[in-house]
Amino acid sequence: MPELPEVETIRLSLDRTVIGHTITAISGSKPTIDPGNLPPVSGRKIAGTARHGKFLFADLDSGSSLVFHFGMTGNLTLVPGDEPDPPYSRAEIFFDDHARLAFTDPRRFGRLGWAPDRAAFIAGRRLGPDALTISRERFLADAAGTGRRAKLFLLDQHRIAGIGNIYADEILFAAGIHPHSVLQECDPVRLSLIATAVPYVLNSAVDHAADFGKFPETWIIPYRACGESCPCCSSPIDRVVVAGRYAYFCPFCQR
Ligand SMILES: [Zn+2]
Repeated sequence: MPELPEVETIRLSLDRTVIGHTITAISGSKPTIDPGNLPPVSGRKIAGTARHGKFLFADLDSGSSLVFHFGMTGNLTLVPGDEPDPPYSRAEIFFDDHARLAFTDPRRFGRLGWAPDRAAFIAGRRLGPDALTISRERFLADAAGTGRRAKLFLLDQHRIAGIGNIYADEILFAAGIHPHSVLQECDPVRLSLIATAVPYVLNSAVDHAADFGKFPETWIIPYRACGESCPCCSSPIDRVVVAGRYAYFCPFCQR
């Protein structure tokens, strides 16, 4: 499931490829897009890109934005003019140089929409600060004031936007914190370990283009499965259910 590092990697790739391009048409169908809710964008240039949490914005020269959410399996691929559609292409944005941006999504949970104002869209969704730009002070104050368990806090998009199931596990592994730890009961040193782990894990993942095969060998992500061993201490990896999904952790390294 695309989380902040995957979406940021897509954003950086859009920055290199489509800024300044003029849109000639958008095609696609429900549920990926609702053509009836898209204003005419033909003739509009892509002026820039932005990301907040797991939402990606392609800002148009009109001041409005195309909004992408990648659901479980969404991705964007720039296709040269005469090449066929990639598999599972659900929507396409056509450009005046005959290239097109294909929104591929095997599972069909992704969405392409439009927002007249990016800031209002973010506010309307009540998204918390982006996980890569939240200040350390804000994070520590929010964490210290919550009776929630560590993993649930990290997953709450209204508190901090962009972290999902997989990177939450990595952040807590890096911090040495058990996913069920109640944050209010953690001392300031333990909270500060989490505050340090958030930007460390997310920035490192972006630096590796969110490619799991290139992540440090000391990370837990490649070992998030039953029967695997901790890459640091070789203890068997354990799991608990948090918010209906498994949190994988090392019972020795994460107390
Ligand atoms: Zn361990």
